[in-house]
Amino acid sequence: MNLVFLGPPGAGKGTQAALLTKQYGVPQISTGEMLRSAVQQQTPMGLEAKRHMDSGALVPDEVVVGIVEERLAAADCVNGFILDGFPRTVAQADALSVMLRKSGKEIEHVILFDVDTSVLLERIVGRRMCRKCGRGYHVCFDPPLEAGKCDECGGELYQREDDQESTMRKRLEVYEAQTAPLKAYYSTGGLLRSVDALGAIQDVYGEIQKIVGRD
Ligand code: AMP
Repeated sequence: MNLVFLGPPGAGKGTQAALLTKQYGVPQISTGEMLRSAVQQQTPMGLEAKRHMDSGALVPDEVVVGIVEERLAAADCVNGFILDGFPRTVAQADALSVMLRKSGKEIEHVILFDVDTSVLLERIVGRRMCRKCGRGYHVCFDPPLEAGKCDECGGELYQREDDQESTMRKRLEVYEAQTAPLKAYYSTGGLLRSVDALGAIQDVYGEIQKIVGRD
């Protein structure tokens, strides 16, 4: 199950990837999560990434390509992977196809989370994340059992710095300019499949299961 999740921030890629991981044991590779963890640990790469992330811009391609290449070589990726938030530029997509070719793998499907970006602002400003385990929530659409507390580990829920409204607008612009061209890129390669990302979480999941042929 070698999947790429493509779609704007707030479209639900992380939520759906976590469901697939739970059901099929295929790892979710979220470049955003890996970068946030590097920022938290204050590694040199994390410090450089933070400047870009705080402003809503993309982290340079060579930094992200490096961490993905290392992650895909890990033993838990032998039966597949779900790339969540990578590639985000044409240069990253080219680099991905080179690294997969080298290891004899190929992308099975690119799943586009189709959604009008104008409705995403509301979704994003309600997002919360667990400080301890990184699980995502939404105050309206996917609330925790107890406000402010993670169902899984009891950790404190917080709002990501880059989920504030002003940064979010910039991230949506960046998506349209730099990431949306990947729709044509993968459509030409015959890999693109779309799901209606505005549906309820379980409905979107059902669509994805049909695509991956394991419903
Ligand atoms: P995400 O959690 O996927 O929304 O990512 C949060 C932030 O991390 C983005 O706004 C970017 O600054 C950075 N980031 C994540 N993935 C990538 C990527 N593939 N290329 C460049 N920057 C990325």
